[in-house]
Amino acid sequence: MEHRYVVITGSLMSGLGKGIVTSSILKLMKLYRVKALPVKFDGYLNYDCGTMNPFRHGEVFVLDDKGEVDMDFGNYERFLNESMNSDLSITGGKLFSNVISMERRGEYLGRDVQIIPHITDYLQKRLKSIAEKEKLDVLLIEVGGTVGDIENSYFIEAMRQLSLTEKVTFVNLTYVPELEGVGEQKTKPTQIALRSLMQLGIQPKFIICRSQRPLEKSTKEKMALFANLKPENIIDDNEIKNIYELPLRLMDQGFDKMLLDELGFGKKSIDKEGLKSWKRFVEFLNDGVHKHAKIAIVGKYVKLRDSYASVKEAITHAAYANDAKIDVDWIESESLEGISKEKIKNILDSYDGIIVPGGFGKRGIEGMMNAISFARNNGRAYLGLCLGMQLMAIEYARNACGLSGANSLEFDDKAKHRIISLMEDQKSIKLKGGTMRLGSWPVSISKGTMAYEAYGSAKAHERHRHRYEFNNKYRKRLEDCGLVISGISPDKNIVEMVEWGTHFGIGTQAHPELKSRPEAPAPLFKAFIKAAVAHNGTEHKS
Ligand code: GLN
Repeated sequence: MEHRYVVITGSLMSGLGKGIVTSSILKLMKLYRVKALPVKFDGYLNYDCGTMNPFRHGEVFVLDDKGEVDMDFGNYERFLNESMNSDLSITGGKLFSNVISMERRGEYLGRDVQIIPHITDYLQKRLKSIAEKEKLDVLLIEVGGTVGDIENSYFIEAMRQLSLTEKVTFVNLTYVPELEGVGEQKTKPTQIALRSLMQLGIQPKFIICRSQRPLEKSTKEKMALFANLKPENIIDDNEIKNIYELPLRLMDQGFDKMLLDELGFGKKSIDKEGLKSWKRFVEFLNDGVHKHAKIAIVGKYVKLRDSYASVKEAITHAAYANDAKIDVDWIESESLEGISKEKIKNILDSYDGIIVPGGFGKRGIEGMMNAISFARNNGRAYLGLCLGMQLMAIEYARNACGLSGANSLEFDDKAKHRIISLMEDQKSIKLKGGTMRLGSWPVSISKGTMAYEAYGSAKAHERHRHRYEFNNKYRKRLEDCGLVISGISPDKNIVEMVEWGTHFGIGTQAHPELKSRPEAPAPLFKAFIKAAVAHNGTEHKS
C-alpha cells in the first residue's frame, strides 16, 4: 500500500498553534474519508512527559494504553473523535533510548553509531511501519519546536531524506507581524525563516500564516515569491473565535481541495453530514445560546491554563450538549487559604458549579478543600477530578463525619485518619517514570446513583493517572455518615466514584475530561453542567 506523508513544521516561535493546524488537517482528511493519523515528535530527552511539571509543559495527556503524552494528543483525539496510541508519540528520549538498546544488542556491530544515518534511518523506518500497520492513506507528522532548534534538527533531516523515496508534502506554519500604527504586514521574518528551511533542503508546499488580520493580496504575493509558491498556497490562520473553527476557515480558502489534489485524493467527496454536525458545533460556540451558568475551576496550576486544557475543552463539549453558555473562571486555590468562611463565600457565591481538577503535592490543598466545603454546604454543583475526588472524600470525613485530622498520605504522612492512602501495588515502586496507575480502567457503577444517571450504564471506562487511592478501611465509616460510593473498580476493589447523595456532587478517581470530545461529551461533565445550569435557573442569590 502506498502511503503519503504530510510534515508540519513551525517557524519563528512556539505557540503559533501547530497542534491545532495538525488537528484541523486531520479533521479535513476524516471529512473526505482519507484515513489519516498523526505522529508527534518532541525533541526533549525525557522518555515521555509523565515526569514533567504542568508549569513547564502543560497538561500531561493520558492515552487508553497508559501512554503519558503531549497535550497535542488531546486535540488530535477531540478533532478526530478517535483514540490514539503511544506509538504515535515519538520523543528524543524514546528515539535515542531505542537506538542505544539496538546498539547494545549488537545490531550495529562494527559500526560507530551516528545521528546520520542511524537515528535518521531508524526514524524513517518507524514512520513507515506506523503507516503500514495502521493502513494509512496519510501519516501527518507534527514536528515539535521551531525550525532552527538543535532538538529537532535531525528529525527535519530525516524528513528530508524521507522525501527522497516517499511522497512527502511539507506545510510550514509562520507568523506575520504587523507593527502597531504602521499598518503593514511584515514578511521579512518569514523570508528569513524560509531561507533556513530551504537550507535544510525543505521546500514547503503550503505556508500557513498566523497574523492579526487576514493577509493582504500583496503580502501573499510577496511571500509566495520568496517561497517559490503560488499566492493561493499562502493560507490565512488569523483570529478564529475558537479552535474548532480552523478546519472550516481552511476550507473557505480551498486548502482542503489543494491538499487533497497534492496528495492524489482530489476525487474524494466530502462527508456532508459530518461537515454539517461540525459546523453546528462551531456555530453554537460562536453564537448566543439560551441557558447559562458560571463555573469556577479551583486548582493549583491555574496560572498556566494549558495545565488543564482538557478540562476546559470538556466543559465546552458539555455546554454544547446542554445548549448552554458557560462562563469559566480560574481560581488559584492558595487564595482560598487562611481566610474566613465569609470571605470564601464572597469569592465563590456567584458560581453555580465548582470543579477541583487533578494535581500533585501539598501546595494549595486546603484552599481546594474550602471550595469543596462551600459547594457542599451551599447547594452548588461539584465535580472532583482525581485529586478533586480524593479531597472530596477527605472534606467529607473531616466536616460531615467528624474525623478531624483526616488527610491523604500524600500531604501528611502522620495523618490521624488516612482517608487517602498509597495504592497497595504502588508501595514497592521506586521508579517515577510511567509507574502510576495509568490508562483506561473499567468502573462498575451502582444503580440509583447520580453517576449511574450520568453514564446511563453500570459500566464505564475512563482514563487514570494516580498513585494514591481511597482507603477501604474508611469505606463503611464514611458510608455510614452519608457518603455514597457510586463507582468501584471491578478488578481491584478501588473506590472510583463518590457522591454526596444530597445535591449534585461527584468525585471521580479518573480523568473523564481526557475522553471528552465535541461529538462525544464526557457523561460526568454533561451531568455537572446540567446541574450548574439548573442552579443558575432556580437560585436567588444573595
Ligand atoms: N496526587 C494524586 C495521586 O497521585 C492525584 C493525582 C491526580 O490528580 N492526577 O493519586
